Amino acid sequence: MTLQVPRSVRQAMPLAREVVEHIAIDYGVCIRPVPMRRIDTHTGKSEIIDVPCGATLETVCPSCAKRNRQLRMAQCREGWHLETEPVITPNQPTEHQRHLVELRADLQAWRDAAQAAGEPTEDFDGAITDLDAEINAAGLRGNVLGRSTPKRTRSTRRRQDAPDLPKRKRASTTLGRTFTAPDGKVYRPSMFITLTLPSYGRVRDGVPVDPEEYDYARAARDALHFSKLIDRFVQNLRRVAGYDVQYFATVEPQRRLAPHLHMAIRGTLPRAVIRQIAAATYHQVWWPAADRVVYDGDHLPVWDEKAGYVDPDTGEVLPTWDQALDALDADPDAKPLHVIRFGPQMDVQGVLAGSKDADQCIRYLSKYLTKSIGDAADPADPVQAEHAARLVEALRYEPCSPSCPNWLRYGIQPKNARAEMRPGCCRGKAHKPEHLGYAGRRVLVSRKWSNKTLAEHRQDRRAWVLEALGLSEEEAADPHRYTWRPVSRNERDVPPLAVRLLRAVAERQRWRAAMQRLQARAEGRTLQDLSATSAADRGRAA
Ligand SMILES: [Zn+2]
Ligand SMILES: [Zn+2]
Repeated sequence: MTLQVPRSVRQAMPLAREVVEHIAIDYGVCIRPVPMRRIDTHTGKSEIIDVPCGATLETVCPSCAKRNRQLRMAQCREGWHLETEPVITPNQPTEHQRHLVELRADLQAWRDAAQAAGEPTEDFDGAITDLDAEINAAGLRGNVLGRSTPKRTRSTRRRQDAPDLPKRKRASTTLGRTFTAPDGKVYRPSMFITLTLPSYGRVRDGVPVDPEEYDYARAARDALHFSKLIDRFVQNLRRVAGYDVQYFATVEPQRRLAPHLHMAIRGTLPRAVIRQIAAATYHQVWWPAADRVVYDGDHLPVWDEKAGYVDPDTGEVLPTWDQALDALDADPDAKPLHVIRFGPQMDVQGVLAGSKDADQCIRYLSKYLTKSIGDAADPADPVQAEHAARLVEALRYEPCSPSCPNWLRYGIQPKNARAEMRPGCCRGKAHKPEHLGYAGRRVLVSRKWSNKTLAEHRQDRRAWVLEALGLSEEEAADPHRYTWRPVSRNERDVPPLAVRLLRAVAERQRWRAAMQRLQARAEGRTLQDLSATSAADRGRAA
């Protein structure tokens, strides 16, 4: 007879891995660390060091997401009310940045290997996209990885008419004006702006009153091109403002699942002017028409190694992406695929440096940063889930980019066409329920916002902790002491994840205890008090 563990008991037993993850999260330890090999060039000693995954979403890694949000808040606060011009110097890539780039190369290699083996590549794609965002945020802009595509010189730019806005000569300052009160006090006001997309139909409690009437097609296209509209708004703002306007902005979901924009702006303009700029801002999407379905169901273009995609019946080669754009350029009656504008609902607030309002705006701005756009819909609420599902369906056949397989549906070969593309099955981020059309960056920071990049903020925090603990930063003393390289999957001396997580927790415990001792010394408290506090801490953590 075998001993049967009742099902209910089995379900109540949490997996050891989950328990370890919970503890790690309590201590702010990354639960998906990337092992890197660190080689000490002085001693030749090789060690596995876990680099935090750097995820920005709570669903991926709560510890990294929380830390990222805190760093973003610090970055926003730092630049908002600067009193002197930031000094921007192009930095040599730091060690951290180099790891990111190496990691990127490794991930790409794994992804290619997976694809060659016919395995799913989605996890890699996601990780690569996230990493790209982090590489950009770390201040390594431009062509780090040697990937670049030549820009199309013939362009439809002539059709992007500049809106009718007053234009001022731009002063070479990024600082806003100050105002001196009669009592001599100097005020440095800034702005907090919220911009939304137009209405797609009446909404109550975040869901359409009549889903049949709600314009999902427009909502889908607006979400897909929202980041371009933001770019235009910034261009127009700078054109009108008369100074080099700097901003820190986040893209967040509204309850109706449309993206909207919160923007902290350094300096101030009259509210009426901001409204005028928002109302005059639009973006035209000059892509080929996507309103006539040419191929559908099983009647799809066929891949030919030499010619690309051809008609399944006639064998005629479909126009390539460049040919389709040329035809668009040549047609004097052509219309843009889509024109996107902001909705009338907007909010403009004046904010003073160091005020309570400023802090509240920063919290508000970063409130949902650890959640994805799609998380704004509660999957447990059938009405909200239905609304989200309709939006995903509207996005399914919408081309998300020039290389989207959906172009085949409209009789055009996608840019960089390759075999096995299928309309309705694009792997692009924008089509996914988490993103609901918006695949752009969630945090947008202008180049001269502050003197620091996110990586430098991260470095600051680490240096502060090390200094507070009286530890010396070895790497700072000799930046060439260590070399790093990614660890491949078949290297055997990497301990299991649970072991590595517990080690990191133990390290945090040591650091916490050391910090508490320092604090106690500073406050002149006794050891008894200290042990009472740490007991209380443990109580809270439980
Ligand atoms: Zn992490
Ligand atoms: Zn797509």
